[in-house]
Amino acid sequence: MSYCVNCGVELGESEKRCPLCGVEVINPAKPYSEKAERPFPASAESVTHRGVRIITAKVLSLLLVIPVLSVLIADLLQDGRLSWSLLPVAAMGFVFLAVIFPCLLKKPPVWLFILLGTVETAAFLFVVWVLVGGDWLWLFALPLTALVGAAAIGCYLILRSKRASVSLKIIVVLLILMVFVIVLQMLIELHLSGRIRLSWSIYAALSCGMVSLAVLIVSRLIRKNESIRKKLFF
Ligand SMILES: [Zn+2]
Repeated sequence: MSYCVNCGVELGESEKRCPLCGVEVINPAKPYSEKAERPFPASAESVTHRGVRIITAKVLSLLLVIPVLSVLIADLLQDGRLSWSLLPVAAMGFVFLAVIFPCLLKKPPVWLFILLGTVETAAFLFVVWVLVGGDWLWLFALPLTALVGAAAIGCYLILRSKRASVSLKIIVVLLILMVFVIVLQMLIELHLSGRIRLSWSIYAALSCGMVSLAVLIVSRLIRKNESIRKKLFF
């Protein structure tokens, strides 16, 4: 990735001039090519497309308000309180957050989608719990949803990190997996028997730990060999 020496704007794969300030770009590694991909829209058309997308999203959100209000009013008129209407309203909220809301954002990051998905799932489970009751929500369903969401965001962030090496990525993902299996069994045991007794998760976590240790040792050896190779000039 290269940047303009004058204004600092991010440049495409190859540029003749900076698209912002017009300063000439000289990059011997990447000579100018007409076909190269650029980080900004080539024409105003794609910007217009975004405008249309945002307007469509706004109209759809307004249209969603109508069934939400009608369902709530119908339920209220029936017996003076809200009951069954909560489920369709939660489902429509799910549609809004999953489909319409991302369209309103400029360039939504993937972690935001994972976070939204987790919050939506938790909210939906809560509504189901309000309607059917039971002791599965607070100590099982919600912590499990949070665990899956946190593990997914953690894995995504480390895997897309530009600074982390491949070995570090593998190690962190394995460590996340280790914590994941242990907490998962803790939740299951706590829900089923009311006490925490770890069994299979220990073996799974131990295997993850051993593999990550092996990756760490191998990556250290490779790095050491490289430095020796450089010192001896071969
Ligand atoms: Zn510039």
